[in-house]
Amino acid sequence: MPENLSKEQLLQAANEFGTPLYVYHAEKIKEQYEKLTTAFSVLDTKFFYASKALTNINILRYVKNMGCEVDCSSINEVKLALHAGFEPQQILYTSNGIAFSEIEEAVETGVHINIDSLSNLEKFGKKFGHSYPVGIRIRPNIMAGGNLKISTGHDTSKFGIPVDQLDTIKDVVKATDLFIRTLHIHTGSDIKDVEVFVNGMEVLFELIPHFPELEVIDLGGGFKVPYIPGEKETDVKLLAQKIKETFDNHPVADNKKFQLWFEPGKFLVSECGYLLAQVTVVKDTGPIVFAAIDSGLNHLIRPMMYDAYHHIENISNPTGEQKVYTITGNICETDTFAADRSLNEIREGDYLAIHNAGAYGFEMASNYNSRFKPAEVMIKDGHTYLIRRRDEWSDLLNNQVEVF
Ligand SMILES: *Cc1c(COP(=O)(O)O)cnc(C)c1O
Repeated sequence: MPENLSKEQLLQAANEFGTPLYVYHAEKIKEQYEKLTTAFSVLDTKFFYASKALTNINILRYVKNMGCEVDCSSINEVKLALHAGFEPQQILYTSNGIAFSEIEEAVETGVHINIDSLSNLEKFGKKFGHSYPVGIRIRPNIMAGGNLKISTGHDTSKFGIPVDQLDTIKDVVKATDLFIRTLHIHTGSDIKDVEVFVNGMEVLFELIPHFPELEVIDLGGGFKVPYIPGEKETDVKLLAQKIKETFDNHPVADNKKFQLWFEPGKFLVSECGYLLAQVTVVKDTGPIVFAAIDSGLNHLIRPMMYDAYHHIENISNPTGEQKVYTITGNICETDTFAADRSLNEIREGDYLAIHNAGAYGFEMASNYNSRFKPAEVMIKDGHTYLIRRRDEWSDLLNNQVEVF
């Protein structure tokens, strides 16, 4: 198994490309993918990378070359996937809250589609009838995931068609002669407990007899990765075993009949990524010593938005004495990356590496405070490639129409 990137490699990238900088380690993505394919070799399974985690075109191509398919959350992600070279049949569009016109656009490209509202399902049936196999996103009414902000399957969630509306779904399917190929659930992110997936399957098993043309059970994504050192990721071997048992034990389904789909985002790309930043100011206020870096919540919003823990290392003073710091950004807004965190002594000019920055890092970055978005580099086979240049002055004015 390839080791993840060393401090020396990260420091070299920071020196070469400047900071703030996103660094991705290609082989780590492959390692994660192989964990999944190995674990699930006992079942007919396909993995669709949830590209909203990180859509850099080079990452998409790398994922494609691993043999993985791709899951999209918008028509533009579908277009990016096509641009990256995925075949339509390798692309899944799991829509939510979108206009029917966007679903029609997706149909024109020929990708797989999961629909998450009765109204779009009905429009789909009226327009395409039996001609275009489609999936239904079900809201199983189960609570799952790291915290409420990243839970998507509970009984007050906006996602999916509530399972208790089965009768209405059936009426729509019958009236418009829909070809329901897939039942889909995605209950949240950061799900460690494999039982959650089994519980979701139990909900789907109740539905299976009502959809005779069903071919695919899609259990979404949400596998947990370690954020805090020593934390465990979702045990995907155990998960595969449990899911196989669930199929085997269930009277309405045998595992030969259904293909199993997953949509991992975080699991594939979280750990491959680092946000590198340079310390701009060390401010000793007595009880709290702040270390400010040349980045902020505009580049990595997860700590502020989800209270996410991200491990942080001082890569330029790795043997310095351990001291306690609160790491903040340079944004005019409280943008704490870590509070009361023990790190090797931080001096102004030191480089910090923020871990687990691959998923929902750059992807959620903005130009807030009119700061530039960071550059992105990818380290593959020991070589470092620039895969997105840092914003420059013109990017801030690019789309502005100077009327006055
Ligand atoms: C976001 C999302 C995923 C990926 O979730 P992760 O927690 O990153 O694995 C998968 N499927 C759907 C429908 C999503 O919206």
